[in-house]
Amino acid sequence: MKASVRLGKIAGVEIGLHYSWFLVFVLVSWSLAVSFLPDRYPGWSAPTYWATGAVSALLLFVSVLTHEMSHSLVARARGFPVSGITLFILGGVSNLKADARKASDEFAIAIVGPLTSFALAGLLWLVSLALGDGNSPIHATLFYLVLMNALLGAFNMLPAFPLDGGRVLRSIIWAVTGSHLRATRIATFGGQVVGVGMMALGVVQVVWTGNFVGGVWLAFLGWFLQSAAGRSQAETAVESSVSGVRVRDVMDGDPPTIDPGSTIREAVFGRLLRHGARALPVCDGEMVVGLLSLTDVKRLSQDLWSARIVRSEMTAMPLITVGPDHDLAQAMDLLAQNSVHQLPVIEDGRLVGLLSRSHVIQYLYSMKELGIR
Ligand SMILES: [Zn+2]
Repeated sequence: MKASVRLGKIAGVEIGLHYSWFLVFVLVSWSLAVSFLPDRYPGWSAPTYWATGAVSALLLFVSVLTHEMSHSLVARARGFPVSGITLFILGGVSNLKADARKASDEFAIAIVGPLTSFALAGLLWLVSLALGDGNSPIHATLFYLVLMNALLGAFNMLPAFPLDGGRVLRSIIWAVTGSHLRATRIATFGGQVVGVGMMALGVVQVVWTGNFVGGVWLAFLGWFLQSAAGRSQAETAVESSVSGVRVRDVMDGDPPTIDPGSTIREAVFGRLLRHGARALPVCDGEMVVGLLSLTDVKRLSQDLWSARIVRSEMTAMPLITVGPDHDLAQAMDLLAQNSVHQLPVIEDGRLVGLLSRSHVIQYLYSMKELGIR
């Protein structure tokens, strides 16, 4: 999720707000000021209710941020790149670059979030005990934060992928059975069941109790969870159909290449157009020195195509490459994460093929058409 407003860095982690956060901030402050606070703590002035509502809503998001921060810090300590945290309408999301490759990593990164929320709830509860009973804004804010942090921890521990509890469940099944695939199937199924259940509960709430805002909110959360789980399940289907497939099986083993001394005109008319290629590995003898893509060519005005040579326009090494014996699933991650259309396949420094998105799509499509699983 892209942040619309950047807040700065905490411990090297970029913190941002998505524009939908402002909507939920107003909604939470409003519901606190007009309903939750006046019901429990009578007799304050209207500005006091509103100020306490706004401060409590802000501190709620500090709590969410603390929860996300714990995920990010544990992920980073275990060697995963963390690009930042974005707060949005449904809470927070940590932008972690890679999926955990080990069950123990996934377990640790997931469980620390709910544990942090429970710890925060416990800590604030102790403070409120020390403070004793009372009817002040400080009592109200403390009570609200204890409640919300406990709820945040409990909700996230539901065994519903992609919630933390679903990730914990997946890592446990993964560790026990050794099958990432089966673990993901079970955990995403949990996500769909819980998501649909929340949508149904939301509808019930609207129809029977007339709590429109609460019901719609719950249904929206359920829908979000259910669709996220569905997406992960679809990814698993792809993962299972390519499990055991290597790059060598899918790549173009004899891609057209181009000499670094050739002109751009030669590259375009002699290679790119003739072979219907999106990119050409640039080879100096057997060594790959770069990649010339349509994007590189487009940057150059057509009058210069005869005057410029490939070496000056290509994307030079180091490029993102794969080996012929890498898993196809891993290569697909590389294509997606780096937004590239093709990967040169390199063995001992020599070019042995080219893996492009269109190869992968054609491969998957043919598998489906032939009914191969
Ligand atoms: Zn979490």
